[in-house]
Amino acid sequence: MAKIAFIGLGNMGGPMAANLLKAQHQVAAFDLSAKAVEAAVAAGASRAADVATAVKGAEVVITMLPAGKHVREVYEGAVLGAAAKGALLIDCSTIDVDSARHVAAAAAKVGLDMVDAPVSGGVGGAVAGTLTFMVGGPETAFARAKPILEKMGRNIVHAGASGNGQAAKICNNMMLGIAMLGTCEAFTMAKRLGLDAQKLFDIASTSSGQSWALTSYCPVPGPVPASPANRDYAAGFTAAMMLKDLMLAQDAARAVGASTPMGAEAAQLYSLFVNAGSGAVDCSGIIKMIDGR
Ligand code: NAD
Repeated sequence: MAKIAFIGLGNMGGPMAANLLKAQHQVAAFDLSAKAVEAAVAAGASRAADVATAVKGAEVVITMLPAGKHVREVYEGAVLGAAAKGALLIDCSTIDVDSARHVAAAAAKVGLDMVDAPVSGGVGGAVAGTLTFMVGGPETAFARAKPILEKMGRNIVHAGASGNGQAAKICNNMMLGIAMLGTCEAFTMAKRLGLDAQKLFDIASTSSGQSWALTSYCPVPGPVPASPANRDYAAGFTAAMMLKDLMLAQDAARAVGASTPMGAEAAQLYSLFVNAGSGAVDCSGIIKMIDGR
């Protein structure tokens, strides 16, 4: 079984590390939060004093951090200098494509294999070990990463060269943001037209209006019992996370000159919602703003 360093044991990293431990891997854990490290130790990990100590002697280094600047800091500050020869680096954080390509190039320069492997599936998927991993990097690095990622996820997809995992993630989540807003607008209009929400759901979910936003995260209570709307929009996938991904998509669109007016509008609407104090609410809760509530 592999010796793995795991850096960033928050809502996602914690349960992902726990699944590696369940699969009999050895995990050295580091996080700035003592509470996060404590939980990992309780699940069977060993405590590392800092990033360099965690990484020393590890065959695989996994990072699950908030944003690009944290990944750059951790990589440039310790991982690239401390990683053993032949170690495989896997960054599972959702970050900007530029940072992903920057750290991958820096890793290649010191002769280390690296993949970007952002995830879809949320905390539920991290706990259940059913995440989807979108992986960018050389074929050889992907082949090495796959058996490790399979212990934390169900679908492991190679999206192409370094940074393409992040590209896939932001393209997917831009579609989700736009679809969620369209779904919220449709249910709001239906109510005003006197069309029952369940009827709209029954029809749209088997018609061309069908989407994941509708069938998994339906923004009104009732039609999808497990959707956050049934628990007063407790997340789920928070509006703040949605906004983060929509902003990453806008940065990427600007960088390559892609025209994304719908993505830009979605970013604006989620900015309004988050700035009004709703960042912790599930992303489907934006229906309240659309509805003028
Ligand atoms: P989180 O804030 O719960 O966890 C991040 C952890 O990183 C924290 O425990 C923090 O203390 C730690 N950290 C920050 N800087 C550090 C450093 N320099 N050294 C060591 N540890 C450091 O966030 P999360 O929800 O676990 O998300 C992690 C990543 O996964 C993000 O990039 C997020 O966008 C992505 N993601 C989250 C979800 C979700 O539903 N939560 C879903 C898909 C993807």
